[in-house]
Amino acid sequence: MDFLQPEDWEEALQARAAHPGARPIWGGTDVMVDLNFGRERPEAILDLTRVRELAEWQEDDGALRVGAGVSYTRAIQELKDALPGLAAASRTVGSPQIRNRGTIGGNLGSSSPAGDALPPLYASGAEIELASARGTRRLPIGEFISGPKRNVLEPDELIAAFHVRPAAGPQQFSKVGTRNAMVIAVCSFALDLDPDARRVGTCIGSAGPTPIVASEAEAFAQGELDWDGGSPPGEATLARFGELVAQAASPIDDVRGSSAYRRHALGVLARRTLSWAWGEL
Ligand SMILES: Cc1cc2nc3c(=O)[nH]c(=O)nc-3n(C[C@H](O)[C@H](O)[C@H](O)COP(=O)(O)OP(=O)(O)OC[C@H]3O[C@@H](n4cnc5c(N)ncnc54)[C@H](O)[C@@H]3O)c2cc1C
Repeated sequence: MDFLQPEDWEEALQARAAHPGARPIWGGTDVMVDLNFGRERPEAILDLTRVRELAEWQEDDGALRVGAGVSYTRAIQELKDALPGLAAASRTVGSPQIRNRGTIGGNLGSSSPAGDALPPLYASGAEIELASARGTRRLPIGEFISGPKRNVLEPDELIAAFHVRPAAGPQQFSKVGTRNAMVIAVCSFALDLDPDARRVGTCIGSAGPTPIVASEAEAFAQGELDWDGGSPPGEATLARFGELVAQAASPIDDVRGSSAYRRHALGVLARRTLSWAWGEL
């Protein structure tokens, strides 16, 4: 197997164009598992870790651009104020070693419905920047991820970054697992409140073929929350919000949990995160 190690972004895009069968790698926390278990045998590995541009993030004109090579550890340390939902999700990923190596770009590349970085990005309306030697395109995360472990990345494209506005209000992320750490989510839920726009953003993780935005729950909460007075949502509002989130899920029965359990747990996560977020506000 060839090992390609471009020194900068331009070289990386050229290498990707010249070797469409090469598997990009950053942390390798998904790729190496697949190689070690013999699940794939790419003709080459395209190591991106020398491409410094990919590890950078900046705020420009009120929007954040975060390079695909930013690790969970850095998201927790450097982005906790701007993106508290993503930082909360990052804290639940793997172990310190996995959080040091693993990246949000790698989570996007794997496109697993259980990817913990994905629900906060959906809830905040993030866009993904893809690049190739032909040029650059940007698309909403919901259009980037096309199915379970599938996305619309072309063979000559790389994930450059994601774009998202910094939190305009409280953000929450909550995950159910069979133990406290080193666990794939049984289900998860991300919430983003924007009090100025009176917008509620949501996303369900690990309970469908892709992360799922609970649009009806969002519309319901937007109409019910007391944006002017600030009084807390009542029991009936929280219960209905939970119900609508549970209904939006499309869970299966598998080794990690039953479909019925996932729906129930999502209702609980939705009620809790809405209460917590409103309390913070
Ligand atoms: C022990 C263990 C625990 C884990 N726990 C969790 C967890 O709790 N939550 C969770 O969500 N995940 C978890 N994972 C999975 C993994 O750590 C994450 O998905 C991580 O985000 C992958 O990032 P990476 O940089 O290591 O990606 P890599 O393994 O390097 O790559 C992953 C995929 O993305 C592609 N890719 C990477 N960068 C680019 C790029 N710039 N352009 C195009 N394609 C690219 C690769 O080709 C590959 O398909 C765990 C893994 C292990 C081994």
